[in-house]
Amino acid sequence: MDNNKQMAELLFPNITKTPEDYETLYPARNLAEGAVVTRFAPSPTGFLHFGGLFAAFVEKTAARTTSGVFYLRIEDTDKKREVENGVSLIVKGLNDFGIEIDEGMTSQTEEKGAYGPYMQSRRTPIYQSYVKSLVEQGLAYPCFMTEDELSVIRENQEADKLLPGIYGEYAKYRDITVEEAKKRIDAGEEYVVRLKSPGKESGRVKFKDVIKGEIEMPENILDVVLLKKDGTPTYHFAHAIDDHLMRTTHVIRGDEWISSVPIHLQLFRLLGFKPPKYAHISPIMKEENGGKRKLSKRKDPEAAVSYYNEAGYPKGAIWEYLMTLANSTYEDWRLANKDADINDFKFSLSKMSKAGALFDIVKLADVSKNYISTLNAEEVYELVTEWARENNEKLYKLLVDDEEYAKSIFAIERGNAKPRKDIAKWGDVENYVSYFYSELWDGQRAFPENLSKDDMIEILELYKQIYKENTASEDWFPAVRDMAVDLGYAKAPKEYKKNPDAYKGHVGDVAGVIRAAATGRLNTPDLYEILQVLGYDEVIKRFDDAINTLKDI
Ligand code: GLU
Repeated sequence: MDNNKQMAELLFPNITKTPEDYETLYPARNLAEGAVVTRFAPSPTGFLHFGGLFAAFVEKTAARTTSGVFYLRIEDTDKKREVENGVSLIVKGLNDFGIEIDEGMTSQTEEKGAYGPYMQSRRTPIYQSYVKSLVEQGLAYPCFMTEDELSVIRENQEADKLLPGIYGEYAKYRDITVEEAKKRIDAGEEYVVRLKSPGKESGRVKFKDVIKGEIEMPENILDVVLLKKDGTPTYHFAHAIDDHLMRTTHVIRGDEWISSVPIHLQLFRLLGFKPPKYAHISPIMKEENGGKRKLSKRKDPEAAVSYYNEAGYPKGAIWEYLMTLANSTYEDWRLANKDADINDFKFSLSKMSKAGALFDIVKLADVSKNYISTLNAEEVYELVTEWARENNEKLYKLLVDDEEYAKSIFAIERGNAKPRKDIAKWGDVENYVSYFYSELWDGQRAFPENLSKDDMIEILELYKQIYKENTASEDWFPAVRDMAVDLGYAKAPKEYKKNPDAYKGHVGDVAGVIRAAATGRLNTPDLYEILQVLGYDEVIKRFDDAINTLKDI
């Protein structure tokens, strides 16, 4: 047996499966030309953050629009950073936003798909099989350096402003013999397995990032760690093995990984794998004090995706917003294709922002208002109720107690050519509907300020007599107008403006008093529709209440 082979057997006596076995177990995927295979590969370190959701959305979209595959892989090789239920939190986060996976983890412990296991901690024998093969080829070696030795090296390199890491003279165990390795292992010494990097100091690597374009960097010369002391892989090594065996075509990830691409490309080459395409996403930015900074987990509540659930942004609206962040051409497309399905948009990975998309909560609210305005009353009812069940018990009860009434409220000015855009998120609904429910409205009213109290009482007293239970919508406003004229108001604002001294006000002021009496507000959706929903008896009761309130002022 040659030395390398002996070393491999010494380090991995129990690993019997070979890379060829795994190649057979995970064959090339049988997909149509141009189909893209992507993955979301988070560490289970806690809640899903907006940047992660955005990456997952882009990865999903790239796969979906090419009839490819999108899968969820959990990168749990760093046990120190893991939180309890970390996987469930990610699975729930994706579910909440409708980002469905084709393969991967479906709960804390379960998974689906033929290319698993999809949790790195379950893949140790696979990684070890490939490391064993690298050792056999003389491309990896055990390194027994202690933490103390490593920190001395690090300090010296820092002091001398040298490239930090293990290479050249620092790679003390590069040429360790089998005998010495055996002696140390028998003595209970711990070791990592390092790559024997063939990189040259003068070497360069070039690659074309799908988003960032041509990139050239120095070649990797570091003997990076492949397997840690506990036999689990480093991120770099697991990335190469997993993305190869899971047949990922496009590695879409945060651009903090760009500097590691030379290591990754070298690993792919030494392992004999075809490298994937890389698409590095720039971080989402936020404007602050005239400048820009990264959206921050620490400073921005909207960085946690739970924020969007709690506030009640529907997932359809979040998708719309994520797509505007992903491709700036989406907004124009949406304007030109108001009713089209978002799936019809031709998403392009290469058209993503190199500089980093700008997060803007006001824009999100606008996008969401537009989206909600396209839903029908039934859909709004279902989605608000679902949200309220978790987030607003009082509202939930009102909505389910009288479903028909709630739906008639949501039907106001909906389904027409120019639907209103009052609701940006389900958290706005309680306020939006409050005057329809005695449980939500305290009966306080803002009356118009340009009319006297007596004028307002006069309007309400008279209107109470004129208002009919079944007025048709086309008759409603003319009746208000005729009454306004009888009481000395101009029949249109224009007329009033021409000759303000001749009138007490105009018909809009009169309608304003009716509006305030019925709803407490100066601005509402269509008043006729509101009165219809409230019902005749309630409307008359509110007029009486308003008259009494005015008399008491
Ligand atoms: N586990 C890595 C992270 O959470 C994944 C990076 C990648 O997508 O390759 O940052």
